[in-house]
Amino acid sequence: KQLQNKVAIITGSGSGIGKATALLFAKEGAKVTISDINEEAGKKVVEEIQQNGGEAIFVKANTAIAEDSKHLVAETIKAFGALHIAVNNAGVGSAFSKVADIDLADWQRVIDINLNGVFYGMKYQIPEMIKAKGGSIINIASILGQVAFQGAAAYVASKHAVVGLTKTGALDHALDNIRVNAIGPGFIYTGLVNETTMGKEAILALEQKHALHRLGNPEEVAAMCLFLASDTASFVTGSYYPVDGGYLAM
Ligand code: NAD
Repeated sequence: KQLQNKVAIITGSGSGIGKATALLFAKEGAKVTISDINEEAGKKVVEEIQQNGGEAIFVKANTAIAEDSKHLVAETIKAFGALHIAVNNAGVGSAFSKVADIDLADWQRVIDINLNGVFYGMKYQIPEMIKAKGGSIINIASILGQVAFQGAAAYVASKHAVVGLTKTGALDHALDNIRVNAIGPGFIYTGLVNETTMGKEAILALEQKHALHRLGNPEEVAAMCLFLASDTASFVTGSYYPVDGGYLAM
């Protein structure tokens, strides 16, 4: 098992990429803190992990609130005694709108969750990782952390910023033995991206933007999270890893 005796926090792990990552980490021996604003979904993931013989707790936290992010780390330490891995995954889409027409409240909401939430997470996770003599932070950005998407400026800006935050965090804390990396998923079938939220036509069009002519699955992103979290990635820091079915190559 690749994460035996490790403790991990995964934000937004009630569904999608976060959930798949939590299930994989628990299978690999990690003690996992499941965190989400959706308490019901998060508690279900804890039950699933426990039924499979793993260890997990649920802590309700809104990543956009600094105090919640602090509480999430404190509860993890209380339950498991240390923190080694954090996946800052919670994120939301923005309403589709041209820049000039963006609703101010929607801009603020997306920046608060997708960017500030990752910063708050890192701010409170890092001191505990220093105490543990090292750690691995994985921030879930997007292919839209690298290229633009018409009508999604708040989302695109937030994800580009997460890549910059990731690289800077890696430099600042390299000598604390903390590795910080970002992942850039292509379009992945989740609660955020499916026929119901986006419509059948849009999904078909999105598939064609990937060299593999399909969307990804949460498990395919979780596999990259596991690699970056594990000691196999001991020389990997300050980088951005697409998991995008060839989207950025097209
Ligand atoms: P999802 O909607 O399935 O899961 C996101 C989870 O985060 C949900 O359980 C939700 O309740 C939770 N959440 C939302 N706001 C929160 C907050 N403020 N605090 C705590 N939890 C919160 O979505 P997903 O597709 O699994 O997205 C996970 C991450 O992956 C996001 O950062 C998203 O931007 C990124 N991403 C997704 C795709 C995709 O195509 N699905 C592509 C690239 C990047």
